[in-house]
Amino acid sequence: MIDVARKLAFLLIGHAGLSALAKPLVGSVGAILMLHRVTALLERPESPNRHLSITPQFLDALIGEMKRMGYAFVSMDEAVARLRMANGGRFAALTADDAYRDNLTEALPVLEKHAAPIAIYVAPGLTGGEVDLWWEVLYDIVSAGKPIAVTMPDGKLKLDCSTPEGRAAAFRRLSDHIAGELREEEQRAVLRGWADMVGVDASAPNRTLLMNWNEIRRCAAHPLVTIGAHSVHHYNLKRLRKESALREMYRSRDMIEAELGRSPVHFAYPYGYAAAVGLRETDLAREAGFVSAVTTRHGVLRPEHADSLHALPRLSVNGRHQELAVMRAMLSGATTLAANRGRRLVTV
Ligand SMILES: [Zn+2]
Repeated sequence: MIDVARKLAFLLIGHAGLSALAKPLVGSVGAILMLHRVTALLERPESPNRHLSITPQFLDALIGEMKRMGYAFVSMDEAVARLRMANGGRFAALTADDAYRDNLTEALPVLEKHAAPIAIYVAPGLTGGEVDLWWEVLYDIVSAGKPIAVTMPDGKLKLDCSTPEGRAAAFRRLSDHIAGELREEEQRAVLRGWADMVGVDASAPNRTLLMNWNEIRRCAAHPLVTIGAHSVHHYNLKRLRKESALREMYRSRDMIEAELGRSPVHFAYPYGYAAAVGLRETDLAREAGFVSAVTTRHGVLRPEHADSLHALPRLSVNGRHQELAVMRAMLSGATTLAANRGRRLVTV
């Protein structure tokens, strides 16, 4: 869906021109922006995780531009309060999933310059290293360039990783296997088997890319940062039994409270797309006691979201398309319609 939105953003820019996008089209009151990594150290262009990284310079330019457009940057607490208010003004909330270290070292200085708050969603399993950052590990595995022998539902396969095309295809096939064919609880052991096969350290990405608890404590003490919960194990909650999905939610909250001394009230669903969060999960997030929960569905905020605080859509700030024109098109609400078959109110 995000791809659809991005393509439409380009089309609109080409055909309508930017002036047509200046006014919100769908009664938007604001937007929640989704980030992952913010770093000047650019990933290789061929990285399948390239979309997850933006530069601090782009973040700076984006916040500056949105302020000129009249957006007030607010915390998730304030975003919820404004949704509940009739006339809250146009606002934007920044969010970052997974608690990458560069949120502290490279994003926070930019946010300080603009006094822009951010919610960082922490999955204690990732932070503590009990869960692998599998999309990063998988990229390391295919980047080793060695053939990978795997057993798939359709039989044994040998994936050639000696060429860029081979590596891209192997990454796609293996990530589909991890995210769609293996049970969530099996993923780590299988991933580690592949890593061992090609001599890759599967725990390296957690260590090098993610914050540890001390760093998260530093963030939590910062007046601009809200720490939210992101489940314990970063499992696709829709693929779990109901009781397990609920436990993932409240245990992540309790583990974060034990580390930080403060209980998070905002939640982000792991993955957040339609195959990972539906009505059952939004009910569970409410039952678990969270005040809000964000998805990765593509959409701007409307006043009606006050009644769907556990199914809030976001706009992804995509590392492959760090252009203000793309973001302006998304903020106009036009891509919300296109990515959701004409729906103005995006929930789940
Ligand atoms: Zn995540």
